[in-house]
Amino acid sequence: MRKFKTESKKLLDLMINSIYTNREIFLRELISNASDAIDKLYFKSLTDSTVALNQDDLAIRVSFDKDARTLTVSDNGIGMTEEELERNLGTIAHSGSEEFKETNAEAQGDAVDIIGRFGVGFYSAFMVAKEVTVMTRAYATGKTFRWTSDGVEGYAIEEVPATDPAFKFESGTDVILTLKDNTDDASYDEYLSEWQLKDLIQRYSNYVRYPVKMMVTKSRQKPKPEDAGDDYQPEYESYEELETINSMTPIWKKKASEVTDEEYNEFYKSTFHDYTDPARTFSLHAEGALEYDALLFIPGRAPFDLYSKDYEKGLELYSSNVLIMEKCADLLPDYYNFVRGVVDSADVHLNISRETLQQTRQLTAMAKRIEKKITGELERMRDDDRAAYETFFENFGRGLKYGIYQSYGMKAAELGDLLLFWSAKEQKMVTLKEYADAMPSDQKAIYYAAGDDRDRLAKMPVVTAVLDHGYDVLLCTQDVDEFCFQAMREYVFTPAAEAAEDAVADGEAAEAQEPQEKRLELKNVASGDLDLATEDEKKAAEEAAKANEGLFSAMKEALGEGAVTKVTVSARLTKETDAPACITAEGPVSLEMEKVLNAGPMPEDVKSQRVLELNAQHPVFAKLQAAQEGEDADKLKLYTELLYDQALLMEGIAVPDPVAFAQNVCKLMA
Ligand code: ADP
Repeated sequence: MRKFKTESKKLLDLMINSIYTNREIFLRELISNASDAIDKLYFKSLTDSTVALNQDDLAIRVSFDKDARTLTVSDNGIGMTEEELERNLGTIAHSGSEEFKETNAEAQGDAVDIIGRFGVGFYSAFMVAKEVTVMTRAYATGKTFRWTSDGVEGYAIEEVPATDPAFKFESGTDVILTLKDNTDDASYDEYLSEWQLKDLIQRYSNYVRYPVKMMVTKSRQKPKPEDAGDDYQPEYESYEELETINSMTPIWKKKASEVTDEEYNEFYKSTFHDYTDPARTFSLHAEGALEYDALLFIPGRAPFDLYSKDYEKGLELYSSNVLIMEKCADLLPDYYNFVRGVVDSADVHLNISRETLQQTRQLTAMAKRIEKKITGELERMRDDDRAAYETFFENFGRGLKYGIYQSYGMKAAELGDLLLFWSAKEQKMVTLKEYADAMPSDQKAIYYAAGDDRDRLAKMPVVTAVLDHGYDVLLCTQDVDEFCFQAMREYVFTPAAEAAEDAVADGEAAEAQEPQEKRLELKNVASGDLDLATEDEKKAAEEAAKANEGLFSAMKEALGEGAVTKVTVSARLTKETDAPACITAEGPVSLEMEKVLNAGPMPEDVKSQRVLELNAQHPVFAKLQAAQEGEDADKLKLYTELLYDQALLMEGIAVPDPVAFAQNVCKLMA
């Protein structure tokens, strides 16, 4: 017996004894090797005229024997000579074994990581087999060799004489696994089941270029006997037939014009286990240093677990038609986590780990391009099929907003124009660009209101005040909205072309028509200074604030410690017909953010700095002044509390003491 090299032994031992979760991938590895071996023979035939090859005969065969508990993967490829057997199968992971020696010390722990790093291909067979036999005949040698190993200490190689029934008359290789015995924890019987093997082949090797054939049991109706009576019941018999299990031609390698929508939809549904057709199907073909094809889908509906932590994003990654990762997360940014699809590149090497891939740089390059492609497709969808885009946005818009928030606004340029918000003025969903383009020329910011109910928001005094001004307000009802806007801070855009055309019409210089980038601040109508008041109004408000200092500090005191940071004259509510008061917030935390942050699973006890703003034109304001002048402290307290509570109610915030509020209302009536 020949011994495995030390490092091979260690690696093998680690792998076999690790509870590797994806044992089944061994079949994919063996089929890939078989496919490579056929490739080699095929390529040889292209350059060597002595190689007579019938391309139709090239195939991989999977067979099993339940009684003997063996599973065999055969190919009629190039085969191996004795030296090749020794070199290729005697040193596990020969390409990586030197490196393994060096990193051996720290590598001991994580078998999955090691498998990923070194790619142990053929040896993954030992995850399910207690013994592996390789019968092989290299092309044009006339010799058959048998390699056997239990995957522990070493292996044996012997030549098989032509008189032996196992002698191979054709070039190629049979890899015969004697499956491990079942244990309490693991059953290996699934590798002896026709339909389970079929499933594995279709799952992992569906797009291997050569047919993967297996004997399958089928059923057929027996011919009706001549003398069958009227009560004849059809009889069935089962029979066996060699069937090609894989589909071979990858759909993404076909020209889009050759594939029907129906076929794409079926592929999408069967591959990604969805029962709804995709909303959009698009593909990408990259050439150059890194070549790959991608077929991508935007699902028609959100999977139920999209927003749960169990949801795994990722694209299927193939290397020359062989699946190497079912969900390659590195290919998609989080905000495009809903995209499904397939990426196939011959430049990415087959590597059995789902956890680690060595080609991070290649993946990064692909991911970048894919991200751009998705953005472009979404933009197209937004522009040519608005109804579909709105459905898409209902399904996945939240993730895009999170993308901006989580990137601290860095992704605003890419994602900002994909967002839709409800316009109070237009009564429909609009993009920020549409909002900006429709703005009156004197408007300096984008206004929004955040809360959980659109109808309530529309009626809020702070919203109607801005609408009365002739400015639109975006009504935002998702908890992420305001965080997204805060991360963006401003919306940067290039105004619609009409403006530039006007400039030309005015006879301005040609350079002037180059549309200038514009920046608009995103302002919550219930926070900070909206800068809506005219100079006169501002002055009047300042004067009123000064004149009523005593009133305001008395009211602040009446509300008790910490209720509001300030009572002041409102620059938002300036007409007699506006509401008498409203609550706004100073500083970075808005009233809505306070609500969202404190409602989470881990309440953060965040407090906004509340301001009670009074409408100086409203008749109630005069009543307050009168109470203050008449030194009627009880009345002032009653009015102040009532105004504060109703302002909170209009904001959708619960009043701190509902009983006191009810009693105050009664006091007023009595
Ligand atoms: P990898 O395929 O990543 O090189 P493996 O451990 O799977 O690593 O296989 C090692 C080598 O053994 C292959 O590179 C190939 O040369 C050889 N080999 C494996 N299976 C076959 C086969 N069915 N026919 C011919 N050669 C094979």
